[in-house]
Amino acid sequence: MLLIHCPYCQEERSELEFRNAGDAHLVRPANIAAISDEEFEEYFFLRDNPKGLIFERWRHMHGCGRFFNAARDTVSDKFVMTYKAGEPKPDLHPAPATSATVETYEATEGDAR
Ligand SMILES: [Zn+2]
Repeated sequence: MLLIHCPYCQEERSELEFRNAGDAHLVRPANIAAISDEEFEEYFFLRDNPKGLIFERWRHMHGCGRFFNAARDTVSDKFVMTYKAGEPKPDLHPAPATSATVETYEATEGDAR
């Protein structure tokens, strides 16, 4: 079972107590009525889906009920760290990408027959 650290309760709790609340650090445009449809689409609907380190909002639904932010690795599904809402985005860098082992098929003369 995955354990998540709530920065408010200061406890590691079961993932069943938490809910994901989308991307962290989204900034709402200052005058949303003045932006173009494309800018609104970008802000409201479009999200990155990177492989590796991401920053998300989470809510401790069955605990303190508060929102907090988390840095999580989408490959290992491990939480790198959690921090209180309103705190600045931590300066974390994703682990260097490792080259995937790709098995290549090399044709030999015998395959041509
Ligand atoms: Zn909590």
